[in-house]
Amino acid sequence: MSGPTRGWLSAAGIASGFSPCPVPLRGRDRSRPYTRMATLTSNLSPLTSFANLLHISYMEYIKSKIRDVNDFPKKGIVFKDLTTVFKDAKALHQIGEELAALYRDKGVTKVVGIESRGFIGGAIAAFELNAGFVPVRKPGKLPADTLQASYDKEYGKDVIEIHRDAINEDDVVVIHDDVLATGGTMAAAYNLVKSMNPKKIYINFIIELSALDGRRNLPAEAEVTSLIVC
Ligand code: AMP
Repeated sequence: MSGPTRGWLSAAGIASGFSPCPVPLRGRDRSRPYTRMATLTSNLSPLTSFANLLHISYMEYIKSKIRDVNDFPKKGIVFKDLTTVFKDAKALHQIGEELAALYRDKGVTKVVGIESRGFIGGAIAAFELNAGFVPVRKPGKLPADTLQASYDKEYGKDVIEIHRDAINEDDVVVIHDDVLATGGTMAAAYNLVKSMNPKKIYINFIIELSALDGRRNLPAEAEVTSLIVC
């Protein structure tokens, strides 16, 4: 079994056990998603420690708004529902702040959001970063000339599309989706964006389901960041 369906199924296993969902710190070790609280007390200036404590409390607030829905979309699956995060003004605002803080100094010109839940965080990030927004959509939804990428699912393949003129060689791109499960969808989106030769591509998720190790399916050269790791 591979692709998104495996993601759904395995997520059920994770969510039924204890999942601490650590929050990556600000200021150092962003690339290490499993940083724990103990790190806060060592090697950091008091100011950085305080900033990290504030950051953690904001992220804990966002985490507290995630709703686990059992048996959706199939029996045995635990769905990480972010509608309960997005409907909360404080949590939604904080997601914007976090995304802006992550990419503010990177010269981002376009944020690519993956249909459909990736449109929400993606559009917020684009607004915060003064960047453009580009949708990656299911086949037949985009009106003009498109590029397509296919990826494996449990049975057969799935296809996503992007407008052929969406990205150019001067762009610095963040590709955003709500949840990293197996990584199949994001890997396909990355290939689409890469084929248009932007200067740099960053990958971002709100939630990463670490037990599925979706990162192994993402390109090694990509800088991958998740706000919350479960
Ligand atoms: P992936 O397996 O990483 O390709 O995930 C495919 C898509 O399914 C992603 O866009 C996720 O948003 C979504 N997804 C997969 N598993 C879950 C889950 N447990 N909760 C919420 N969304 C999920």
